[in-house]
Amino acid sequence: AKATGKNTFSVYKEEMGKHLSARLQMEKHLRNAINQDELYLVYQPKINLFSGQVIGVEALLRWRNPKLGLVPPNVFIRIAEESRMIIPISEWVIENTIRQLQAWQGTEYQNLSIAVNISSNQFSHEDFIHDLARQLDGANLPRRLLEVELTESTVMTNADENIKRLQLLRHKGFDLAVDDFGTGYSSLSYLKRFPLTILKIDKSFIDGVPNDDEDMSISQAIVQLAHSLDIKVVAEGIETHAQLEFLQELGCEFGQGYFISRPLEIADLNKWLQQHGK
Ligand code: C2E
Ligand code: CA
Ligand code: CA
Ligand code: CA
Repeated sequence: AKATGKNTFSVYKEEMGKHLSARLQMEKHLRNAINQDELYLVYQPKINLFSGQVIGVEALLRWRNPKLGLVPPNVFIRIAEESRMIIPISEWVIENTIRQLQAWQGTEYQNLSIAVNISSNQFSHEDFIHDLARQLDGANLPRRLLEVELTESTVMTNADENIKRLQLLRHKGFDLAVDDFGTGYSSLSYLKRFPLTILKIDKSFIDGVPNDDEDMSISQAIVQLAHSLDIKVVAEGIETHAQLEFLQELGCEFGQGYFISRPLEIADLNKWLQQHGK
């Protein structure tokens, strides 16, 4: 027979089918990830750029599956969000974060905070804030030790409604950081109304230091804007000494990135903390 004359459409369907089944496969594995003990957290230190002192860590989720290997969070979190699995997974993250905070109580690390990334459907969940408060109280932990990181796009979607929720969160004593700042659409007038504690300058701007004038100007503008609103700034993705120096010159108070430390599993984090002193 002649080449069966697959038209573009059937090739497309086949590709789509492959893509879909890989995705369904992943979704199926992800459903078992918690039971099978395949999730774990890594922690990236966040330091004061002037004193060098560690002020806290950011918890980042990892999924290692025997068949799929280590799946990047950008990939599986999207699938989790689209399939509602994000809810049990997020609960797992918060429970484990709380457990780690408890493990540090009574040690020299008891004031370190842990920042957790909260996805938008988790944040918009009715009971989220009350549950979080109850969980920290139940664990006898000051609420400020758990810092909530929301992306700029989470915060800006339904901004008017979110203001109330953000106020409640702050009112309950949680610190609030806006992640990936500068990448989305942020209205400056909202920024003034949002009760934020921290802005995180997106890594994409830090990447441009010291060669891209625009990225450097934007970084500078973000630091100035935040400070004029009494908001502190964390620069993420610091990979070089030059970037660290530039940020110090801007007066950016906090930073994280590979130059300081990669995200570490808990045993390595505890070692890093000891070596780092304080
Ligand atoms: P994010 O919150 O912006 O986290 C920063 C990402 O940059 C992390 O990637 C971190 O490992 C990476 N990073 C930190 N410093 C450097 C650096 O100096 N150079 C480079 N090249 N990368 C650096 P990761 O761990 O792959 O996480 C990716 C994204 O997945 C996170 O971005 C966050 O949006 C999401 N994510 C991670 N854990 C969770 C979680 O528990 N819940 C939710 N909802 N999202 C999570
Ligand atoms: Ca983050
Ligand atoms: Ca970010
Ligand atoms: Ca540029």
